[in-house]
Amino acid sequence: MLDVDRIRADFPILSHIEKGRPLIYLDNAATSQKPIQVIKALEAFYTEYNANIHRGVYKIAERATAAYEATREKVRQFISASEANEVIFTRNTTESLNVVARSWGEANVKAGDKVVVTLLEHHSNMVPWQLLARKRRAKLEFVSINQDGTLDMEDFKEKVEGAKVVAFTHVSNVVGTINPVCDMTRMAKREGALVVVDGAQAAPHMPVNVSEIGCDFYAFSAHKMLGPTGVGVLYGRRELLEEMPPFLAGGDMISEVHLSGASWNEVPWKFEAGTSNVGDVIAFASAIDYLTVIGMANVRKHEKALTEYALTRLTELDGVKVYGPMEAEKRGGVVPFTIKGVHPHDIAAHLDGMRIAVRSGYHCAQPLHEWLGVQSTARASFYIYNRQDEVDALVEGLKKTSKVFVG
Ligand code: PMP
Repeated sequence: MLDVDRIRADFPILSHIEKGRPLIYLDNAATSQKPIQVIKALEAFYTEYNANIHRGVYKIAERATAAYEATREKVRQFISASEANEVIFTRNTTESLNVVARSWGEANVKAGDKVVVTLLEHHSNMVPWQLLARKRRAKLEFVSINQDGTLDMEDFKEKVEGAKVVAFTHVSNVVGTINPVCDMTRMAKREGALVVVDGAQAAPHMPVNVSEIGCDFYAFSAHKMLGPTGVGVLYGRRELLEEMPPFLAGGDMISEVHLSGASWNEVPWKFEAGTSNVGDVIAFASAIDYLTVIGMANVRKHEKALTEYALTRLTELDGVKVYGPMEAEKRGGVVPFTIKGVHPHDIAAHLDGMRIAVRSGYHCAQPLHEWLGVQSTARASFYIYNRQDEVDALVEGLKKTSKVFVG
């Protein structure tokens, strides 16, 4: 079991009182809060050794370079990649997925090729593939889902046949579905397809081993896993990164530049053009350390128990409908719901009056909401610092919301 009270003491925002109330933060799928260790790491960088990396020969530049590259090694260990050079720092998951669709996609996808994504995707793992398909005149196909929000594996099997690229989320940011990514990767690889996994909702919440999954690319964001905003990770298999053209061109990503042309730096720096987000990457290491000490299996266990409790309590409420698989085993800590007769924005705004933060809208997954038959949902999502009594507060809050808006 996690020592949640001890964990909470590390998160200054959770003890910040406004209107006489502490914050009940249930929007962790959007971004997580930051522990003092991460905040202090950022402060130490800017107060002690702020310098650009890979350039200066003076002490603080060397310290900054070493700390930046040490984060790369920490990320490698965190996701069990075979080499640190397979870890590229980007701005976020969205940029990571765009690197793959643009750099690998435009060099390899031809007219008539089949690109497969699923109906569970966040826009950032759908729109880059739509753009690529349009540009290359490739076919884009969508794997459908079952009534309970799990992926239709029969449809997946059919759709991956002959595919050039198969891109799917590890965990849905809307219905929470945990996809069988190892099986899916095996099936897609059998067809010779490139396999791209969106891990934005998985890497922060459960053990992830990219070597075991066997995928070609895996993308996630630091800000959803206790780290700063502005840092994303793209894991890519070394051979693919070597072959791919660069995504952005300019300083740091070159080996030599002459008036007649340029050659590229080695992987991963070939994909890190310009001045990197040095301070935030360095502080990200403290977030990884924090999660590693807790243990990702324990993070998952904690969230699963909270999700199970939330599913039970929310489905007891009159007029509340919860979406996605009803077994906590099959889903991450993301619980979308609606109240009959109340707009999700009204739910979120009313809860905000009680300092309870939940998200409302279509959560960057409009096609999935169309499939669910609703324009939008409210969504509660959990992390290591959330407690059962916060779920109770959400339930009591929703009872008041129903009373105000439904009567
Ligand atoms: N994919 C999924 C599944 C997500 O939940 C998110 C963030 N909501 C993203 C991609 C995009 O992440 P970012 O905004 O950090 O690029």
